[in-house]
Amino acid sequence: MADDFYNTLGLSKGASDSEIKSAYRKMAMKYHPDRNQGKPDAEKKFKEVSNAYEVLKDPQKKQAYDQYGHAALEQGGMGGAGGFGQQGFGGGGFSDIFEDIFGMGGGGPQESRGDDLRYDVSIDLEEAFNGKSFEAPISKMATCPEKHSYRSCSTCDGYGKVRTQSGFFSMERTCGRCSGSGQEIKGKCSKCSNTGRVKENKKLKIKIPAGIETGNRIRMTGEGEAGELGGTNGDLYVFINVTSHKIFERDKNNIICDVAIPFTTAALGGSIEVPTIEKKMVSINIPQGMQSGHKLRVKGKGMSILRNDSRGDMIIRVHAETPVNLSKDQKELLSKFNESLVKENSKMTEGFFDKVKKMFKS
Ligand SMILES: [Zn+2]
Ligand SMILES: [Zn+2]
Repeated sequence: MADDFYNTLGLSKGASDSEIKSAYRKMAMKYHPDRNQGKPDAEKKFKEVSNAYEVLKDPQKKQAYDQYGHAALEQGGMGGAGGFGQQGFGGGGFSDIFEDIFGMGGGGPQESRGDDLRYDVSIDLEEAFNGKSFEAPISKMATCPEKHSYRSCSTCDGYGKVRTQSGFFSMERTCGRCSGSGQEIKGKCSKCSNTGRVKENKKLKIKIPAGIETGNRIRMTGEGEAGELGGTNGDLYVFINVTSHKIFERDKNNIICDVAIPFTTAALGGSIEVPTIEKKMVSINIPQGMQSGHKLRVKGKGMSILRNDSRGDMIIRVHAETPVNLSKDQKELLSKFNESLVKENSKMTEGFFDKVKKMFKS
């Protein structure tokens, strides 16, 4: 990560939302790749500016960034800043922002696209393994249900833009009356006060596929806010956070599980039962002479893989447990065993004492 995000946008810390938005617009216009063809520096700058804005425009990310700096975003704890273009999801990313600012096509009336919405959801590892469907309460601006008839905007004459002249300069900006749509509602609509939009609370069905990870986002096309006066709807992005599990640790498609076994089982070998993510028990063989910290792989018992029928593996990290509170008899047995070790020298002790000898010699 490069510069401070506020610096990148030419602002100082504590800048307001509107200052951030306006600084971003200025910078994005200046460094936009369409205007700077063949200038890699501009493209780089544009990406930096866009990255900074991605964080600062989002109240949650901004707060985390203000508090912890870049570290807050790099640990993946924030649902993956810069997680755009996650495999299979969205793929919108920057282009969403371009359309918002520059409109499509240029000239003539422009559509005013509705805002994108973000919905954060936290699920546990088992839900990430199984997938989950649920209804989310969403509050947003929706298209007014009344039937409106339209006429050309009285301010811009249907052009969507207005031109202001000052000396030699002529500037064109989006018409404030019709927000660039070139149209206005005829008569008076009591439901939407002629804005074309009304507040709506709805339950949105969200389906989280099995195998999802923290930082993934699901794009629900058209489920964002309604556009103004006939503009297209924004999208809704579901940001996923998978909470940590008491027993299992996720490593991409694999599941790691720490299992303690008696040191005798580690030495002699044997069979143990371990739990899996689908709440079943599987039996695994411990080979003779299993060392603490070594791993065993159980094929196909790991996480579900996104949009794939196969599964990752379960990795068992074995820890040999040292017995405590031994009885007198047990102590005697172990002492005898220890004497036999000293006589015969097990592989492990030999290796270690060889190293010690070498250390003292040098
Ligand atoms: Zn207008
Ligand atoms: Zn209306």
